[in-house]
Amino acid sequence: MNSTSPIRPREAIAALPTYAAGKPPVPAEGLTPYKLSSNENPLGPVPAAAAAAAEAQALHRYPNPGAEVLRAELARHLQVPVEDIVTGTGSLGALTQIINTFAGTSADGTADEVIYPWRSFEAYPIVVRTAGAKDVTVAVTETGEHDLEAMAQAITERTRVIMLCTPNNPTGPALRHQAVEEFLTKVPSDIVVVVDEAYLEFVRSEDPVDGLALYRKYPNVVLLRTFSKAHGLAGLRVGYSISQAAITEHLRKAAVPFGVSAVAEAAAVASLQNLHEVHQRVEEIVEERQRVAAALAEAGWQIPTTEGNFVWLPLGAESLDFAQLAGEQALAVRAFAGEGVRVTIGEPEANDRFIQLCRTYRSTPGTD
Ligand SMILES: *Cc1c(COP(=O)(O)O)cnc(C)c1O
Repeated sequence: MNSTSPIRPREAIAALPTYAAGKPPVPAEGLTPYKLSSNENPLGPVPAAAAAAAEAQALHRYPNPGAEVLRAELARHLQVPVEDIVTGTGSLGALTQIINTFAGTSADGTADEVIYPWRSFEAYPIVVRTAGAKDVTVAVTETGEHDLEAMAQAITERTRVIMLCTPNNPTGPALRHQAVEEFLTKVPSDIVVVVDEAYLEFVRSEDPVDGLALYRKYPNVVLLRTFSKAHGLAGLRVGYSISQAAITEHLRKAAVPFGVSAVAEAAAVASLQNLHEVHQRVEEIVEERQRVAAALAEAGWQIPTTEGNFVWLPLGAESLDFAQLAGEQALAVRAFAGEGVRVTIGEPEANDRFIQLCRTYRSTPGTD
């Protein structure tokens, strides 16, 4: 930081950590490098989506202002009114609209509060604090699950938004529908509850959250979804939220105009029109996830249940060392110092190498 410069950001920005995106792998002798650090889909988009993006026309024109074609396609697939869908530049764009709309700093200088679990998605603190709101974090349990009781107790008069992340990134477990329903009965109806379902398609747990049922029943619930993970379109930045009119009428005003590009819209529509193929790819990743989880369990690792496209190794103080070892094997993984390491389920060969690393790591004396 150049402290001699007269340029000063707002206090909230000065105090923010910079988002640390997953790093690319560093090549190692004789090993194909793999990026397992950003929960990307190793299979990429379905061919029809890639073709639609490549064939997009009229690049000198602005896109549909409200991504109307995509929203119509989504409305048809999800059986929801088209007005209840608001698109954004990834679900992060959609989340930014929600936070900017409902949480900030009041005229008297007091900050609104946004409750979210921690550790959870790294972008949450950035979005909340740049809006001028105060983040109230509630520690996840030892098994990496939301502590919904503690989250309900954290509600104050200043609470404007509560975030739920299911499955939780980076720890892995998914919420249960029944538990979320019980939680919602404790939340005052003027507090907006965001359910981040970025990994929805990968969930295979019992009693998974039925987000659409929650949105239909609770006017204060907003679902957050993305084309970045299951659809393999992270590079195109397209996501959306689903909520009732009481929320969308405000969100639309906060949405950055033309956020979703024509290229992204075309690809997303094509992906939806080939949903069967998308689901086949997701199934392949889920099978790989189950293979990795079983191999780790067999090697003596105790890790939280994972319902996303990643696993969480709660390595604590050893996290950076483990990431270093993975790096030497040309595997980029995501370490959170002092807490753990998140590893994306990747190509089978990448997963094999990761499993092998976990086996040998645990048999190293002194690491238990
Ligand atoms: C990856 C991810 C997103 C998706 O972000 P996009 O902006 O849609 O790429 C949202 N929430 C969580 C928890 C994620 O892990």
